[in-house]
Amino acid sequence: MTDDHTPPDATRRWPHQTAMSPSSLKTYSQCPYRIRLQYIDKIPRPDIFVPFFAIGNATHSALGTIAQQLKAGTTLLGPEQIRILCQLHMPMFQYPSEETWEAEVQKVLRWVDLGRRYLESLRADEWLLIEHWEKRDLPLLPSRTRYTLGAKPDLIVRRLDEEGEPLIHIIDYKTGKVYEEPDVPVIHRFVLRNVLQEWTGDASATNVRFTWYWLDENYRKDVDLTLEHCNYAWPGIVRQMESLVTETAWEPTPSHMCVYCPYYQNYCTAEIPPQVE
Ligand code: SF4
Repeated sequence: MTDDHTPPDATRRWPHQTAMSPSSLKTYSQCPYRIRLQYIDKIPRPDIFVPFFAIGNATHSALGTIAQQLKAGTTLLGPEQIRILCQLHMPMFQYPSEETWEAEVQKVLRWVDLGRRYLESLRADEWLLIEHWEKRDLPLLPSRTRYTLGAKPDLIVRRLDEEGEPLIHIIDYKTGKVYEEPDVPVIHRFVLRNVLQEWTGDASATNVRFTWYWLDENYRKDVDLTLEHCNYAWPGIVRQMESLVTETAWEPTPSHMCVYCPYYQNYCTAEIPPQVE
């Protein structure tokens, strides 16, 4: 979509001071125009209620609080407090009926119960980071220009693995369908390098595991983040970042994902092609 005649210049480039993240790289791979609206034109996200995000936010909020309580050794959130969190994140008036709302709340209660049991089963020695943004600079392109890559893990604990070896364990709760994004664990290990060094004294030798926990399916997938694994994936991640920071066209790319886009049918009038609806 070309809505003006500005030539592709620095004003249409990824803002140099803005950190890239797994989320912005994924969005860019799905629709460059959405990145332009959000990060370059800086259009505030229209305040549209999306039940899929609301239920995810309520669940993450409850599990973040539970991790803080496990860390502090205090009483954990119970169903009544979780319902209050649901009221904040998922106001009942946004749902077609009280029954629909209640069904969504029951999902949150079930997911949080699964997440809590898992956290308790970890036998963590130390609750290191809970929903904390970490970032790291890196050079890109032949010019070696410095950019920033960041990530916000849901939880990181220190514990022993099944063989009794020290492990730094990163946990990411998912409330959608099972869908692996193989670059995400590798990006986490990259951005965490400085804190890994602080925690273990040798970031390169640290045993790091990343676990996705798809709560709706009650399915977990562990990825052992060996250096070999990360080194294999890293060139592809660099290619994505270099593509993002040199992008100038920012073409809209309509897909079924448009219905989750905050700019759908307001700032962006792209039509979803029938075959992908
Ligand atoms: S509505 Fe679709 S095509 Fe338009 S910006 Fe959002 S994701 Fe891209």
